[in-house]
Amino acid sequence: MGMSDVIMEKNYINGQWQAGDGETIAVINPSTEKPIGHFHETSADDVDRAVTAACDAFPAWSALPGAERANYMRKMTAAIRANMDDLVVMQMANCGKPRSEAEADIVGSVDCIDYFADRAEELDARQQTPIDYDIPGYRSATRLEPMGPVGFILPWNFPMKICSWKLGPALAAGCTVVIKPSEVTPFTDTFWGKAAELAGLPAGVLNVVNGRGAITGAALSSHPGLRKISFTGSTSTGKAIMQAAAEDVKNIGLELGGKSPILVFEDADLDLAARLAVEGVFYNSGQCCNATGRLLAHESIKEDLTTKIEELYKAVVLGTPDTPGMTMGPLASKPQYDKVTGYQDIAREEGLNCLTGGGRAVQFNTGYFVEPTLYTDVPKSSRLWNEEIFGPVLCLRSFSSENEAIAEGNDTEYGLAATIVTEDESRAERVAAQLDAGHIYTNVSVAIPPETSWGGFKQSGIGRELGPWGLSGFLEVKTVTSRG
Ligand code: NAD
Repeated sequence: MGMSDVIMEKNYINGQWQAGDGETIAVINPSTEKPIGHFHETSADDVDRAVTAACDAFPAWSALPGAERANYMRKMTAAIRANMDDLVVMQMANCGKPRSEAEADIVGSVDCIDYFADRAEELDARQQTPIDYDIPGYRSATRLEPMGPVGFILPWNFPMKICSWKLGPALAAGCTVVIKPSEVTPFTDTFWGKAAELAGLPAGVLNVVNGRGAITGAALSSHPGLRKISFTGSTSTGKAIMQAAAEDVKNIGLELGGKSPILVFEDADLDLAARLAVEGVFYNSGQCCNATGRLLAHESIKEDLTTKIEELYKAVVLGTPDTPGMTMGPLASKPQYDKVTGYQDIAREEGLNCLTGGGRAVQFNTGYFVEPTLYTDVPKSSRLWNEEIFGPVLCLRSFSSENEAIAEGNDTEYGLAATIVTEDESRAERVAAQLDAGHIYTNVSVAIPPETSWGGFKQSGIGRELGPWGLSGFLEVKTVTSRG
């Protein structure tokens, strides 16, 4: 059974595919503005059934040895590999991504689940770890136990991939899950249900419920049966989820927005700096939580760097994902298109100095295409300098000293990522130590291997995904102290 069957179906609850009872929601191809499918929204009652299924499945799933959970996880990744092409094509259609980026999403999801399958095996050996201390007559040891049934609420910019960052550690830890994909891009994330079915996961271990945030998402985040909500999305929704979770003191993991800086020093390789700056706001048409939307360039190299960046802008080929040679697709949805073009309007009102782009891509009659845009000498007070735009829009300011660059880099409510470009290694280390961000890149493109950590300082979030930190986000620590 392939992707087309998933489009006709809706939710995966307790091992069964069932259409929901709520409103019919169309799913739109952002290149054509035409529907590619639909789903029926999940009511609070159906969310309750999914959570109940996850609760019922929890005792048996969590009692399995980690090595057995790892086997199921590897069967899931085999099922994804067997459906790779369908998934990539759906990702291209639903998100407007180039094939290479769509492939990177699905392959990255498989790699992440496989990585955490290995961690599941290791968990068996980590039980009963003694704690070293010296109180006569006492001894203690820790046990690591799964948190319980958990819920995921997902965004539309990297379907499947962001889910894998949550699903890998949750299944490895022994948690059961209820997944709510974004209503904008539901189908590839719904395939997690298919992968679970094909892998023979026991019913209720993995459930998928589709719907909008205000209905299905809210029912999930306020459900008392879940022990954690792991959320990726905007900071404003993250605050609402945190409030809902407060009601019964659920654990939360929040991966939120960003306004990441790229700092280019006077000793930088300017070809490299230009490429990193442009990649940082062009990948996924700029719809990345870690988009480097704030370029800080040393005043002595600003003009040369700007010239190189403008050259790279000229090389962009806007187009639908099936257009040969295209390098950038449309934005993923009409609301996102309205948001980004709204910022281009604000830039005009603010009188920003626009070097290239600045508007809708008028050569397209259909599709949510915007021009890659570059503003220079952007004042600190500009809304475009301070707010997350989530589109191919780069804002540039210059600095005159390292301390000024660090202070400006940190002058934001966010702290997700940052890039440093310098040929001076001691400067790179010094600056990395002082920037408030969860992942710092020096002289390299953004890569997020599952072994590293991902997550934000400040209003970019709470907690860390990936690596051992991601796994511990789904484990409770229990200490047993005995006579001895
Ligand atoms: P969003 O906040 O609009 O929606 C995310 C999810 O939350 C969707 O599934 C939505 O249905 C749900 N939702 C909305 N309101 C809800 C509510 N009241 N209760 C429960 N659920 C609700 O975000 P988006 O537009 O889908 O994604 C873009 C945002 O995600 C950007 O801000 C981006 O920076 C952020 N993001 C962060 C990371 C990260 O790792 N930090 C990664 C990707 C995206």
